[in-house]
Amino acid sequence: SRPDPKMSLDQIRAEIERRNPAEPEFHQAAREVLETLAPVLAARPEYADPGLVERLIEPERQIIFRVPWTDDNGRVHVNRGFRVEFNSALGPYKGGLRFHPSVNLGIIKFLGFEQIFKNALTGLGIGGGKGGSDFDPQGRSDAEVMRFCQSFMTELYRHIGEYTDIPAGDIGVGAREIGYLFGQYRRITNRWEGGVLTGKAAGWGGSLIRPEATGYGNVLFAEAMLRARGEELAGQTAVVSGSGNVAIYTIQKLTALGATPVTCSDSGGYVVDEKGIDLDLLRQIKEVERGRVSTYAERRGASARYVPGGRVWEVPADVALPSATQNELNADDAATLIRNGVKAVSEGANMPTTPDAVDLLQQAGVAFGPGKAANAGGVAVSALEMTQNASRMAWKADHVEAELARIMTDIHTTCAETAERYGVPGDYVAGANIAGFERVADAMLAQGI
Ligand code: GLU
Repeated sequence: SRPDPKMSLDQIRAEIERRNPAEPEFHQAAREVLETLAPVLAARPEYADPGLVERLIEPERQIIFRVPWTDDNGRVHVNRGFRVEFNSALGPYKGGLRFHPSVNLGIIKFLGFEQIFKNALTGLGIGGGKGGSDFDPQGRSDAEVMRFCQSFMTELYRHIGEYTDIPAGDIGVGAREIGYLFGQYRRITNRWEGGVLTGKAAGWGGSLIRPEATGYGNVLFAEAMLRARGEELAGQTAVVSGSGNVAIYTIQKLTALGATPVTCSDSGGYVVDEKGIDLDLLRQIKEVERGRVSTYAERRGASARYVPGGRVWEVPADVALPSATQNELNADDAATLIRNGVKAVSEGANMPTTPDAVDLLQQAGVAFGPGKAANAGGVAVSALEMTQNASRMAWKADHVEAELARIMTDIHTTCAETAERYGVPGDYVAGANIAGFERVADAMLAQGI
């Protein structure tokens, strides 16, 4: 049955749960956006009639496919691949691929939904999408990862293209995987189509600063939030979760700007280092050896200790930058952070803070930067990589970094001004959701049903 075009937000919420059973992360992401849209729908009645919200919450296309591959012992494994092409009103679908055993359709849909608004906030011409697989790269050899990527692309290639859908990395997908994926795309299509994937290595079409962009951008966003309250980032202590690409470059930028990042973590536990995380050591362990953070504490000496099973949020700090995965910072963690006097929380990961934790932080007056604004630097530099590919140019690092800084400042200003305009000053969650929604909604209205 056709949904009533004038459904209330509550009815839409119920409809999302009815039509998408067993997808709690997608329900969470959709609910969080819908909750902030009431004032904009009331102020702009033109958004209600054409069923904009109903269209926005239904992906344009969802692709699920089989990914068979052979391990080094000749055994065949079958994983599941996904690509959700959520919204293309502003440009071709754009968003990463996640390879992690937790991946299922609901996770990819939550990520794709967030990506629509994040990409809109960058001000660039990119729609929203996401993909991935429940493949677990942990402990797999390079040859196994290569065969998996080749099998994954053997199906995916027919759905993507530089004007259609442009995947990139996310958890479990970095430069190595993008290389294997690109190689298979090139072999199958016989096209050297650089703009079909972003996050490529700098020597063959990748953008300088792309690996750094998400972490750098999040630190710049946290700094902008602090400055808006008359504070500086320099001199502050920071807790960072995770130890992947986002966490590593968050730690690097914090240190460069005079703050002290004292933690990092993985699924086994966390490291606290009073002297500040030694980036060279962390990169050696994570990027070269593909090892665990416990090794960091073993090698670092007296300033560091490893806390198995612990959560970084118990370490007192001025700023918290969750940079691991969804729902990693809950209400208890938020209460601990508040008790320890945290001033700002800025999301490097996608939806790392649970809704009740966000409420607690905002009620306590903590500056809270939602991922769709704070971590948009990654996808923004992906769009700059597409621009470089289309023009067959390679920009200097300084130029890309200056563009990234400008985009992050603009996103901060847009969120702050939008929140102000709708009577919720300082609420970056509402500001990001409303500003992202308005841009997508205006494009959808103009382009018809
Ligand atoms: N996975 C990243 C994100 O969550 C980057 C996506 C991209 O560069 O397309 O935004």
